[in-house]
Amino acid sequence: MSVLVVGTTALDSIKTPYSENPRLLGGSASHAAVAASFFSPVSIVGVVGSDFPEDYISLYKKHGIDLEGLERKEGQTFFWEGEYEVNMNNRQTLETVLGVIEGWLPAIPTGLQEKQYILLANCEPKLQRHILSQTKNSRFVIADTMDLWLNIARDELLALLKEIDCLVLNDSEARQLTEEDNVVVALKQIHDLGPKYVIVKKGEHGAILSTPKGLFIAPAFPLTKLTDPTGAGDSFVGGLIGYLAAAGGDIEDNFRKAIIHGSVTASFCCEGFGLNATTEATRDAIDARVAELEALVRF
Ligand code: AMP
Repeated sequence: MSVLVVGTTALDSIKTPYSENPRLLGGSASHAAVAASFFSPVSIVGVVGSDFPEDYISLYKKHGIDLEGLERKEGQTFFWEGEYEVNMNNRQTLETVLGVIEGWLPAIPTGLQEKQYILLANCEPKLQRHILSQTKNSRFVIADTMDLWLNIARDELLALLKEIDCLVLNDSEARQLTEEDNVVVALKQIHDLGPKYVIVKKGEHGAILSTPKGLFIAPAFPLTKLTDPTGAGDSFVGGLIGYLAAAGGDIEDNFRKAIIHGSVTASFCCEGFGLNATTEATRDAIDARVAELEALVRF
């Protein structure tokens, strides 16, 4: 089965204490689509401007990503600039330019409307709902979000929660959404808002999955060198849905393995700037790390 990914297709400038990297390929949909492509065929829905480099189109193509839903418009591509502190868990957004994504509400091509596995990667909830409303045959819909939308589009986000199967958010966002400090209690409260499955990401400490059958604690792959964590969350959710789509069958039965594959795919993302390391990964390298991780947590 193939995956439909919607989100931002961006140019990112990323500063760390050691390096500065302008105009990298980024965006939630780019990271998620490349991650998913290690497991399943992927179609992307996004928009880029006239400044979007042809090399980045080639990179999508290298991963077999279907670009029928990637619109090109006159104007500037969504641009995001972020800076990390020495502790790479802390990052600040220096600038966001919406460019061609501002007010963009596309009609998705007919051929993409019947996709069964749908990833609403991080973008404005209104856009996520607009895309979802055009799909016809969905089997599993997962959405990612961020603090910005909790601050400025809370009602739209709450409406989205009633329309999806799974929400992914980080621990501070879960606290912000529920006003509850205890993550286990917060998970229950998020289920009450709609989604059958909820995943709370905890960065280098892994993630917690909550399903009707209970909780699963997923570790992150222990890395010795962290170059740039930008896009790790998107790679996590991309790898996860790619694995689920490839596995088919019962979602609940495959969810634990899917989350581990997502977690390991995200580890590659962190080893290079932008998509540089993810794009060099292979399915064999991912599977080898999954086996290493399994050995680390088995007891
Ligand atoms: P992550 O590190 O998983 O939070 O994802 C970072 C990616 O999200 C970058 O490649 C950015 O281009 C993209 N991004 C930053 N701000 C936003 C936003 N407001 N909406 C959607 N995507 C964004």
